Amino acid sequence: MQRIIYIAFDQLNVAAGAMRIADKANDHIVLVESQRMLTTRRWHKQRLLFLLSSARHFAKELTDAGWNVTYLKSATTIDGLREIKQKYPDSEVLCATPNSFELKKSLTDFGATFVANDFFLTSADLFSIWASGQKTFTMENFYRAQRKRLAILMDGTEPVGGAWNFDADNRLPPPKVHDWGAPLYFVFDEIDQQVISELPENAWGKIDGKTWGTSRTEALAQMANFFKNHFKEFGPYEDSMPGESWSAHHSLLSPYLNNGLLLASEVVEAALTRFAQGDIPISSCEGFIRQIIGWREYINGMYWYLGQDYRENNQLSATRELLPLFHDPAKTEMNCVRSVVTDIEDRGWTHHIPRLMVLSNLALLTGVSPQEFLDWMREVFIDAADWVMVPNVIGMATHADGGTLMTKPYAAGGAYISKMGQFCKSCKYDPKKRTGDDACPYTTLYWDFLDRHAETFSKNHRMFQQMGGLRRLSNLAEVKERAAQVLNGLERGQI
Ligand code: SF4
Repeated sequence: MQRIIYIAFDQLNVAAGAMRIADKANDHIVLVESQRMLTTRRWHKQRLLFLLSSARHFAKELTDAGWNVTYLKSATTIDGLREIKQKYPDSEVLCATPNSFELKKSLTDFGATFVANDFFLTSADLFSIWASGQKTFTMENFYRAQRKRLAILMDGTEPVGGAWNFDADNRLPPPKVHDWGAPLYFVFDEIDQQVISELPENAWGKIDGKTWGTSRTEALAQMANFFKNHFKEFGPYEDSMPGESWSAHHSLLSPYLNNGLLLASEVVEAALTRFAQGDIPISSCEGFIRQIIGWREYINGMYWYLGQDYRENNQLSATRELLPLFHDPAKTEMNCVRSVVTDIEDRGWTHHIPRLMVLSNLALLTGVSPQEFLDWMREVFIDAADWVMVPNVIGMATHADGGTLMTKPYAAGGAYISKMGQFCKSCKYDPKKRTGDDACPYTTLYWDFLDRHAETFSKNHRMFQQMGGLRRLSNLAEVKERAAQVLNGLERGQI
């Protein structure tokens, strides 16, 4: 009997998920474009373009290859599936286990049958076994277990290169002169143009060119470009924020991994094959492998392990509304923030350090509501799946879970941004100053943040050094007065 195989927009791969068990002769492949998904949030234009156009390209490729495919536009995903089910009432609906709580619930209620989700290297059950045996959920411990379990970069029982990580080699600031190379750009085709013409009016951001591929072929081209031109120097500069290159030596593969155009297993295999050629330093290879088999799997595992209510955490009682600068870079004179938000407006992406140390750090220090910040991160980043953003924002970025994921908050003054980026020289603020009209807002707000949460952080032994610094601060009253001015100015878009 014919089966209905539902393909979610983040599972676009013929070799994985429900497509792995699909039968070309008998099964009916269905993709649904949910109008509610498109319009209920202020999504970045490029995020919508990427997701919709990739799905339409995937549907066309399947049709061209002889599959029986229906691509539907419907009010909701479930409405679309109901429509198909009415035509084929005896057909079972099959799909891979969805990647979000919300879709999993609605498909479960609809009566869909799930097959294993192999878009990740670690099943939720396997992760749960690891997590339930841990006192703290340290990513490094998970990562080492992954290296052993998957036998990746292992020399028997020892790590290749004699160490589990090479972080110490991978913290170089941007050099004064460096050839970052040009990022790969693509050319819009008819499908892309059609999607652009249909984008909702409330969508945010710009589309000035095709930064993100929308097909498997383009995703593979991006992967090949990374391994050929950037892999070697990825590691040493992975944390640096050069002013002259938005992509530095980053792979730009996360969107494709997160919508299924690339599989983690093939990216790891390509990295190891390239490493075996001999001219890639272990620091670059290990740093990249850690992102894929460590961080990515850990964050996905924690998303499911911590449960659906985890996203509601707000243990630092942060209630400030999202600052206007997050949607409009002209609403701030902080050069780092203006530059990073402009990058996001231009292409829906910036790498992990501006996300963490510029954007999230600012949300944390100013006490922006974690849920508002989470919504914004979900809407504007090209690769912002729910499973990525919930643990990253609630746990890592805003410390709203009280330390479940990370034992201490990622709070920092302007010194870190000054060291790792090239923003401060042309900024009207001074990263070394904490008081005065030209004090760096990060530096002022850092001490104010520690003081506001002194009672909580005094109980955290990992904050011992920072709290000691706060106690030794000679002009706290002056700092707090400036912090109040800064917070007020940020709310009005005048700092
Ligand atoms: Fe950012 Fe402060 Fe540096 Fe200005 S001085 S660029 S606000 S870190």
